[in-house]
Amino acid sequence: MRANDSILALAELVDRAGFLSDQDLQGREAGLYVDDFLADAVLRPTSTAQVSAILAHCNEHDIAVVPQGGMTGLVRGTQTHSGSVVLSLERMNDIENIDPVSRTARVQAGVILQRLQEKIAEHDMDFPLDLGARGSCQVGGNASTNAGGLRVVRYGMMRELVLGLEAVLADGTIVSSMNEMMKNNTGYDLKQLFIGSEGTLGIITRLVLRLYEAPKSRNTALAALSSFDQVTGLLKHVDRSLAGQMSSFEVMWDSWYSFITGELGNRPLDPGYPYYAIFESLGGDPLRDEEQFQAMLESAVEEGLVDDAVVATSEKDARRLWEIRENVDPVLSRPSFMYDVSLPIRHMDDYVSHVEQDMKKRLPGSQPMCLGHLADGNLHFLVLYDAEAAGGDDEAHAVSDAVVYEPLAPLKGSVSAEHGIGLEKKAHLHISRNAAELEVMKGLKTLLDPKGTLNPGKIF
Ligand code: ZN
Repeated sequence: MRANDSILALAELVDRAGFLSDQDLQGREAGLYVDDFLADAVLRPTSTAQVSAILAHCNEHDIAVVPQGGMTGLVRGTQTHSGSVVLSLERMNDIENIDPVSRTARVQAGVILQRLQEKIAEHDMDFPLDLGARGSCQVGGNASTNAGGLRVVRYGMMRELVLGLEAVLADGTIVSSMNEMMKNNTGYDLKQLFIGSEGTLGIITRLVLRLYEAPKSRNTALAALSSFDQVTGLLKHVDRSLAGQMSSFEVMWDSWYSFITGELGNRPLDPGYPYYAIFESLGGDPLRDEEQFQAMLESAVEEGLVDDAVVATSEKDARRLWEIRENVDPVLSRPSFMYDVSLPIRHMDDYVSHVEQDMKKRLPGSQPMCLGHLADGNLHFLVLYDAEAAGGDDEAHAVSDAVVYEPLAPLKGSVSAEHGIGLEKKAHLHISRNAAELEVMKGLKTLLDPKGTLNPGKIF
């Protein structure tokens, strides 16, 4: 079979809507399936059996397969190239079962996160993974990239929320590991191989997810603080006082708070404090939880842990507070870089001041801003830059990467706390992973995908 024929033959493995040729793709909205990049076809299977047939065929004919979910990733993990085919899971979006007794949900990988959250809420249960891209990201993508988000400090990352899964290997072998129990210590935990491996070891097709009881109360506050000792003291105070109910603890440096509150015209506390913390509790008793939250905040003020604070008194209030932390559109709509690093909390303050100063020095005209999931040890930098002053976009990118990543090595930090590696961070992976770790990772890749047809070139 010629290369072109072997790609066209894929059409036989799916229904009519399941195959889009490169001609079908022309004139399509940019960003859907192929971005500005090339692919020879898009496959949109509806079942695990179809995924298996597609992968077996591609493996036999050396066709690269690039899996795609909701396309909300930030590290170019789904970038295609000429000669590759896209495997989109979007039609595999069945919610097969929600079991409030066993507290599990069984779903196909293409379910949109928000739709799943809403369906589960109808059963008075909660799936606590939550992130800004909830309206378009898919659960299979959340698993293959081990998504984090805003409630990791309480519920963990996606890795902790998946009980079982089904994946298809590069040669078409279906590995069904649809465990429904919290505890199952019968040898290697195979699902973890596929979680966070960005579609390089197998394609996740179905999942069993762990559900929680739906919270009945939500209390949210924003505080201004003048020292980093107050920040770490407040984290301990909130967590201790709320006894297990703290669901988020996020910190914004003034670089971010002043910028975003000005952009949004939403400024509940004066700008100019060095730090702002937004924290939230989720509980089961609205009256008691509100009292407990208020008491916690009052004692924080008495102990000098916060300089100023506001509490949300309605859902709308809470949304207004969260908007300050979550809305990054005013940055992403301009020339900018976004980072996702983690490091021990005790080193954060020095690290952030160093990066902010060094960035302004080495990248003239840039505006670095910092915010993040402090309780998780995870910070995001958003950097607005001036391409002309930097001598071009690529030049600016290289300098900016160096400023953020270089100081992480001695701190044993991570170049990616939650976004993954994809193509974007490949060159920096060695900062966070040693030679022995990389050898084991490559060994697993060779074992499960010896011909290298699954999402080639990503991670390493
Ligand atoms: Zn984040």
